[in-house]
Amino acid sequence: MKINVLTAEIYNKIAAGEVVDRPYSVVKELVENAIDAGATEISVEIAGGGKKLIRITDNGCGIGKDDLKLAFLPHATSKLKSAEDLFTVQTLGFRGEAIASIAAVSRMNIISKTENGEAHSLCVSGGVFGEVTTAAGANGTQVTVEDLFYNTPARLKFLKSDGQEEADVSNMVARFILSHPEISFTYTVAGKVKFRSFGDGLKGAISVVYDAQTLSNCFEIAADKHGIKLSGFIGNQNFSKPNRSYQSLFVNGRYVVNQTVGSAVTNAYGAYLMKRQYPFYVLFLEMPPEIVDVNVHPNKADVRFADNQIIYGSVYSVISSVLDGNSRALEYLADVPKTAVTEQPATHSAVQNDTLQKSTQPYETMSYQQAIKELQFDISPVGGKPSEPRFLEPAPVKFEVHAPKGEIKGEPKEDFFAENQRYLRETEKMQQERIDPAQLEYKGELFRTYLIYETGDNAYFIDQHAAHERLIYNRLREKWEKREVVSQPMLMPYIVNANAQEFAFLKANFNILREIGFEVEEFGNTSIKVSAVPMDLQSMNLEVFFREVLASMESLRAVRLTDILKDRLATSACKAAVKGGERLTEQEVRALIDETEGDMGMKCPHGRPVAVKMKKSEIEKLFKRIV
Ligand code: ADP
Ligand code: MG
Repeated sequence: MKINVLTAEIYNKIAAGEVVDRPYSVVKELVENAIDAGATEISVEIAGGGKKLIRITDNGCGIGKDDLKLAFLPHATSKLKSAEDLFTVQTLGFRGEAIASIAAVSRMNIISKTENGEAHSLCVSGGVFGEVTTAAGANGTQVTVEDLFYNTPARLKFLKSDGQEEADVSNMVARFILSHPEISFTYTVAGKVKFRSFGDGLKGAISVVYDAQTLSNCFEIAADKHGIKLSGFIGNQNFSKPNRSYQSLFVNGRYVVNQTVGSAVTNAYGAYLMKRQYPFYVLFLEMPPEIVDVNVHPNKADVRFADNQIIYGSVYSVISSVLDGNSRALEYLADVPKTAVTEQPATHSAVQNDTLQKSTQPYETMSYQQAIKELQFDISPVGGKPSEPRFLEPAPVKFEVHAPKGEIKGEPKEDFFAENQRYLRETEKMQQERIDPAQLEYKGELFRTYLIYETGDNAYFIDQHAAHERLIYNRLREKWEKREVVSQPMLMPYIVNANAQEFAFLKANFNILREIGFEVEEFGNTSIKVSAVPMDLQSMNLEVFFREVLASMESLRAVRLTDILKDRLATSACKAAVKGGERLTEQEVRALIDETEGDMGMKCPHGRPVAVKMKKSEIEKLFKRIV
């Protein structure tokens, strides 16, 4: 065996998979570079979901002619000089890997100009360098990445559809707009501007990424807890979202997904949220760099905290105080009139983002023991028994919720699949018990709800509502399965306002929606226009329906959408069915039982039995005629 030293070209190609595996991660690295370069205006342009083109233009410090080639070398960075710097790194990048890695797997061009220098350009294609040439350009840097992964077909094949890659890029850009509200971003997809922020502060940024109403449904918080600064906007008790795509967490300016913070927030909302509802938040945590490790993995948007309990406790106590409106809430709320926040972004006066401003101030220091003591004091009134230091247990790592009053929260995925399987098993069993309806002798009804039949040695009690419901449901389903659906146009189209990720999900499911009778089309940047609904489901509540559809995005399983529709079907069948307590005429009873075709194993669409059988022998046992 011979040991080969990898050439830089091959090494970079391998390393590229670590740093950049998808268009959005390329966008992330390049935008971070622009931010690190001090840009106040950044434009992000993509085409073909970023596979074809990614272009980032900034007005930052630029790269001098002599450094241009260096930027493309692995581990070339201007941001770290010594190993100690690693522990206090303030810039977003510091590994010096991104440019080299991206250039190894694409056709890359950089044009850059420093304030006092001339513009120069350099092309690197699949890691092979061209010449540095003079070029024309404004102050700052423009990086163009074309044909990403053109020379690594395996990786190219691994990418999702253009639409999904685009959605992930959009999501990334949205998070940059939120995390850097002082920067003006323009985001263009295939020549069309999707987002334009004005660098006028967090409120403006939220209005750009979500909508102007969002702010009026939020609390603005600005708290300082155990040396950790928390700020941003959290949805009020009634402002819930169908999935987690409305949650943004920034730790020292970086967008991260972190379970400790995630569960602290979710638990703080506790009883305010029902099953499949998620809180809205744009939350900034600022803490001394020594207590947070951002060096987890170049590609994972997570961080490690020196102490999870402090972080969990701080987030939990601030948010639950605000939501519960306890005496400490005032301390944590940002002092702004809540009425002024629904203006259009363009009319915002320059709202300063306090988080970013204050982050340079020295942090108050507190020992771990002191912090624990304070936490204990803080949380107990909210959590119930004062002697129960539940936050001292290892911080929960799953998004679970301390069982709230009423509905128990669980991951929607599990119950859904169990339910499905149960349903299938029941359908199977249902086929088994069939009786010729002509053999069923009607004996009368009980409590105006249960119809009594006799055949041979068996008695059957049939729930008239459940039976009718089942029959209507079967009819509806049959129509759908035969594609005999009829659409009912609406007088006023219904608009589903979605974010970029939800929009992509809905778009991917357009055909299913259309198959069952919805007329849907794109509307604006990320909204959907519904102009017709399935005839049989005319009375459905579209808001509820689309909320459920979007909730299914969480599980990323297309099968769930059809299940939701089945559920809708069941509901409309239920509404249309005769109720218990309604007296049926003899003909109606006959028609009903005939329609069952003697199927005595039926369940109503909610899973309750339609018929209950009692054997003669069981009745005789009751009377002790037999034992
Ligand atoms: P890192 O960001 O980890 O330092 P990169 O490979 O992303 O590594 O970038 C390498 C170097 O190229 C950076 O340290 C910086 O000096 C320079 N650079 C990259 N992009 C830009 C930019 N948009 N503006 C100015 N300098 C840049
Ligand atoms: Mg970088």
